[in-house]
Formats: sequence, C-alpha cells, structure tokens
Amino acid sequence: MSTEPGTTPAPAPTPGDPHSPAPNHGSRIHGCLLGGALGDSLGYAVEFDDISAIRARFGPAGLQDFAALDAGSPFSDDTQMTLYTADGLLEALEWANDGVASDINACLWLAYLRWLGTQGVSVPASAPFQPPRWIDAQAVLKNRRSPGNACLSGLATGEMGTVMRPVNPDAKGCGTVMRSAPFGLIPHLEPETVYKLSADAASLTHGHPAARQSAGVFSLVIHALSSGHGLREAAESALGHLRGGILRKGEDPDQDVVARLEAALRLAGDLPGGGNVLSPEDLVSELGEGWVAEEALAVALYAVLATVPETATADAGTAEADARAHFRAAIAVAVNHSGDSDSTASIAGNILGAYYGERCLPADWLAALEAPEVIRGMASRLAAVTGA
Ligand SMILES: [Mg+2]
Repeated sequence: MSTEPGTTPAPAPTPGDPHSPAPNHGSRIHGCLLGGALGDSLGYAVEFDDISAIRARFGPAGLQDFAALDAGSPFSDDTQMTLYTADGLLEALEWANDGVASDINACLWLAYLRWLGTQGVSVPASAPFQPPRWIDAQAVLKNRRSPGNACLSGLATGEMGTVMRPVNPDAKGCGTVMRSAPFGLIPHLEPETVYKLSADAASLTHGHPAARQSAGVFSLVIHALSSGHGLREAAESALGHLRGGILRKGEDPDQDVVARLEAALRLAGDLPGGGNVLSPEDLVSELGEGWVAEEALAVALYAVLATVPETATADAGTAEADARAHFRAAIAVAVNHSGDSDSTASIAGNILGAYYGERCLPADWLAALEAPEVIRGMASRLAAVTGA
C-alpha cells in the first residue's frame, strides 16, 4: 500500500453543502471513528430491548439523546473491534512506510487475536503471538461488552479463516460489518483493493458470503465518502460494485445482500424534503432487525439517507447545525427499533462521520462519550501514517 502524502485531490465543497469546504482526511478519520463510537454507545443502552421496552423507558419517541441516560452508556464490542481493525491496518501501513511488504490480512488477524485476549478468552497456543502495541495498553478496551459469538469462536480456533477455508462457514452475523469502516479510510487505494481487504478480514471470523460481501460494501461506502462523494452516490456506487463484478471469480452477489440494500435505497429514495421516516415497526419489517450482516448495513444506510436535511443552506453556521441535526436524527432512527441497536447505530455513525468529518458530532454527545482520548488516539495514529 502506498501512502505518499500530497497526492490527494484538492478538497471540493461537500455536495449539498456548498458553503462548507470538504473536511480534510484527518477530520474524516476522526469523524468516522468518533461518530461510530457515539452511535454504538447510545445504541448499547438498548441493544437487547424491543421497541415497546424502549418506549416504556424513554417515552413515545424512544431514546434520542445521552441526556436521557442518567448513568451514561459506554461503547461496546463494535467500537472495540473497529479500533482493532484500525490498528491492524496501522501496523501494515507502518511496515509499508518502512519499505517492508507485509501480509495485511495477517496483520488484521494478529490484531483481532489481541482483541480476543482483551475479552478474557485464551488465545490458542497454535496461534501466533505478537508483542503488545499501543492499543493493547488501553484498559477501557478490556471491558467485555456483549461480543459476538462468531467473532469469539472464529478467532478462538487459532486457525486463520479464509474465503476458501472458512471458520464458522455459516456465520453471517453483523460482526463483520460493524468493525469494517477503517478499510475505507486508507487513501489512494482502488475500490477493488478496499473490497478485498475488507472481505478477507471478514473471513477471519465469518464464512457466509453475505457476511464478507456486506462488510466489503460497507467499506466501499466509507471509501467513496472519504473520496468526496455524496451519501446516496456512495451507497449506490458500492452496491453497483457488488453487482458489477468486484467479487472474486466464480462468486455471485448474495441475493439477500442485494435485496436488503436495494430496499434501503428505495425506501429512502423519495424522502429528503418530504415523506415520513418509517416507524420502528415498519423499519424492522422492511429491512430486518440488523443481527445479520446485510440487515445491519441496510438499516444504517436507511437511517442516514432518510434523514438528510431538507435543503442545502447558504450559511456556513447553519450548515454545521444541519450536519449535527442530521447526525442526531439518523442515530435516533438507527437506535430505536427492536433489533441490534448498537451495531446499526455504530455503522450509521461511521458513515456520517466519514461524510461530514468531525463537525457533525454534537458537543454534548462527545462530552458523554467514554474514553474519547482512546478513540482520538487511534484516529490520530491512522491519520498520521496515512499522511492526513
Ligand atoms: Mg455491540
């Protein structure tokens, strides 16, 4: 991977937001990781609650804000694993910048094995040992916050799962998608490379095609946003890649993935400026609960696209307020349903943070975020090594 600075095109105005300059890449990295952590944290408070329980606790509109949580809410495995994905990529980029080629997926595997160690699961003796890195010294990441079974069991085999020799061959949980934003944050890569890195890393824990294809498409969405594309454009181009031959030879697009993502785009299609956002009940009925990979991505994409502000504004200050309002509205849709609220909101937060950069993140939410210095620390390291 090449990371020479200075080859990034000049920033263009954010589409639909002509008076705000496009965020620089460092702001997109910080926005993506912090935005995901905010969505994850708010959603984690109600991850296992159905919508009736959420309404009973927080009122008819559900959980809208950290202010409704007296004790706050920490981030969960979604953010933990996203940071470990970033660290695996960081290590590969550090080697590359030293002129040393590395097996990137092996760096990801080593990172995830170190994550497994944080969850109190012994790493099998057959697995390679790696000396601790900066991330491994962060005590807050050692909390166990409902980690996914396939992530744990796939890594605990001590075998490096691949597309052709998968661990957990039938697993299609959203544990692949929710950790895969960082693949889209590495500049100067072709979409084919982004997809392959993401899909190969997904195969370290999940063997079902829908799990790796959903992760790959999500990484492509982040990649397109980081490259300056608009929200809907990024989603459509990522889906187009899936339909249009980015897969390895002989592999077909998983029809559940295609159907869920098409439904998300169609349902959100006519909404900006009019129409009503789906009720939590209809959202789950149309797109699923988000426990499996393609449903989580579909719910998150819908939440983001269905809450786009009505009109572009000519005032920079108003544009910033609109970005923050968009973030709050999208996360509220992604949190308030009977499904996997922390993963769907984590993915939605990653998307909006990559699009707007840090300026969409509400200050009062950031003040409620657990260990922001750890998330900023990883974002800063990734930004530095990519020349952002
Ligand atoms: Mg979680």
